[in-house]
Amino acid sequence: MKRSLNIFVFLCSMVSISAQNIQNNPGSNHGNKFEQLGTILPTPNNYRTASGAPGHDYWQQRADYDISAYLDEDKLNLKGSETITYYNNSPDELEYLWIQLDENQQSSVKNAGYDNSSVLPKQTSSSRLSASELPAKDNGFGINLEKVTDADGKPLSYVVNKTMMRIDLPKKLKKGENFKFKIDWNYNIADRMKMGGRGGYEFFPEDGNYLFTMTQWYPRLCVYSDFQGWQNHQFTGRGEFALTFGNFKVKMNVPADHTIASTGVGKNFSEVLTPEQLARWQKAQNATEPVEIVTLDEAKKAEKSKSKNRKTWVFEAENVRDFAWTSSRKFIWDAMPQVIAENNNKVMCMSLYPKEAYGLYRKYSTKAVAHTIKTYSDFTIPYPYPVAQSIEAANGMEYPMICFNYGRTEKDGTYSEGIKNGMLGVIIHEVGHNFFPMIINSDERQWSWMDEGLNTFVEYLTEELWDNKFPSKRGPAHTIVDYMKLPKDQLEPIMSNSENIIQFGPNAYSKPATGLNILRETIMGRELFDKAFKTYAKRWAFRHPEPADFFRTMEDASGEDLDWFWRGWFYSTDPVDIAIDKVTVATPDFDGKANAREFKYKVEKPALNDFEDISKIRNREDKKITFYTDKDTSTQDFYWRYDRGLENVDTTKEYTIKGEAAENLTEKEREKFKNLTGYQIDFSNKGGLVMPLILEFTFEDGSKLNDKISAQIWRKNEKTVSKTYFFDKKLKSIQLDPMKETADIDTSNNFWGTFSEPTKFQVFKDRQQQRARGAAPGMVNPMQAAGKKN
Ligand SMILES: [Zn+2]
Repeated sequence: MKRSLNIFVFLCSMVSISAQNIQNNPGSNHGNKFEQLGTILPTPNNYRTASGAPGHDYWQQRADYDISAYLDEDKLNLKGSETITYYNNSPDELEYLWIQLDENQQSSVKNAGYDNSSVLPKQTSSSRLSASELPAKDNGFGINLEKVTDADGKPLSYVVNKTMMRIDLPKKLKKGENFKFKIDWNYNIADRMKMGGRGGYEFFPEDGNYLFTMTQWYPRLCVYSDFQGWQNHQFTGRGEFALTFGNFKVKMNVPADHTIASTGVGKNFSEVLTPEQLARWQKAQNATEPVEIVTLDEAKKAEKSKSKNRKTWVFEAENVRDFAWTSSRKFIWDAMPQVIAENNNKVMCMSLYPKEAYGLYRKYSTKAVAHTIKTYSDFTIPYPYPVAQSIEAANGMEYPMICFNYGRTEKDGTYSEGIKNGMLGVIIHEVGHNFFPMIINSDERQWSWMDEGLNTFVEYLTEELWDNKFPSKRGPAHTIVDYMKLPKDQLEPIMSNSENIIQFGPNAYSKPATGLNILRETIMGRELFDKAFKTYAKRWAFRHPEPADFFRTMEDASGEDLDWFWRGWFYSTDPVDIAIDKVTVATPDFDGKANAREFKYKVEKPALNDFEDISKIRNREDKKITFYTDKDTSTQDFYWRYDRGLENVDTTKEYTIKGEAAENLTEKEREKFKNLTGYQIDFSNKGGLVMPLILEFTFEDGSKLNDKISAQIWRKNEKTVSKTYFFDKKLKSIQLDPMKETADIDTSNNFWGTFSEPTKFQVFKDRQQQRARGAAPGMVNPMQAAGKKN
């Protein structure tokens, strides 16, 4: 035992020494910033291709729901009875199903129990102190399961593990089969404003009414997938949801004076609306401005009494991954259609809001919904659903076809620009979530950036197209600088699990959105980016994409190798800090002697064999073998000719190339280059993240010139690079990244305005470069370099 331990220690120290050597080796300029992601990405297979598209054996599960819900406003309880039909489209036999019981997160005893570390407070409230009492008392929230049976009412065995429930199937569910089962349940609705969470109620003390938002409200299937098996990671309140597509039929029994909005299409408006409201609904179908279906006066009147009667609203939704609804007697409801050009889909855009938000929502909400689905349709896929709704509920949360937003006015109906823009931003964002992740159905529990980041990016594009001066907080590169500047112990890569992120907003929203904006504006250009981004949306609409599917599609559709960008921006925490260290100046010297220098060289036979295997060498040595390239000369490439061309060259002899004197330049040429000045700019990469070099030159005559050097300039030396320019005007200053496109965290080193005393460089006549190939590799033609930039 002891002996082997010694060996182990010895090996460990060997490993650490060599690792240290690699890091500390001052000569090593080449890390792995430009290497392919390779094995970091999952191996492509029949379900997901190497191009980033769904494979030819792609499959996904399906779950249909038939639910009856009963809202008890007096007891603040929601009761439900649901039938789920689960379709096994996977090639696997399933022994059990996993069901999400998200409402258990509100329970003090059934929640996932992911604690955060804590310290003694400087001040605290008595309610917080009592909340921290041990052992935790049951606060009475969370799902109460009344019955779990098969379709015939026979009890199924199940186990609840905090926010997850496993149902053991009576017999294995084979490929292509479906299983129908029933769950009866109820739960006490939480005060969302006090307890937090995405759903629950808000109480309005002034009129004694409630506004209910019913979200994560029914037991629902986990995703079973080719890449993860069951996604049954606990719901902690942070990482959002992974859900299976299916069809919904939902009946909601609520007080008769409530108005309901829901995922899907209302099936019995003629029963639940008054004749006047129904007439307004019909009029709204062809309106060009929002039409009030439930008016402000009707909502105000309904607030004043509480009906003891009940009504049942019926909604149906097809091919959705989730279903949410809202109910209150406080709601005003307006609607207006928006036609999506690409699929000719007429979408009823609608808003529901209490009188407290009337001044803002009546004016902007439905129009913002229409603008959002139209703009997102242009950048992704045409909006496929029949409705899109924005509900004012003093929060921000998204579901298919319906979302909850904020934005209330002062009592007198006035509001600030800040509240208005905040409201517009949240409506665009939450409606935008219809695309990411409701349709392009990524796994939010695992990757927050795949929905929040992508959505925040298109939100930014949509805000810009709403109002060119819209004060977007996320998207522009300079807005991420403060985050990128943080010490490394407060940062984690974008590629981190949702539960493990410290700075959630910057990490999952801003940084990925900014990264996509940089790709679009600075690295790929709009044409390539937009096509690739749309390709990703089209490929993965109504499917379950993974990060690799996105990374691969963006490259596949654009022809841009972006692995360096994914590596740097998504997998690392390095910031951008590129500095201009030094500028060296030189002017032409037509009388210099250096150009008369002689270059001596021997012709070397090209090394054909050192990287080839023995079978190729033997084939070549076998005179009986004729190669296809020998017979078909059109297949002969440069190397073929190069090789043959040297057959008659004496490889032992030393050849000489003589430099040609500057006197050989014509007067015209001298005149042309007389005023040329060369500037060598030395850059260093202080932050670690490589980026294109965007340069703005300002000349003494006041004129400006811009150039952009792609990030690949760093590929052979990731720490320092130099770039030389020749100008026929005197340079006054150089600015790196003048438009703050790259999120450079220190712009104080991005400027150069003092230049060294000029040195001289010799100018000579162009020569036959071909002859010198391989002999004098250091020789470059400065005129060519200058010509390229002008
Ligand atoms: Zn969001």
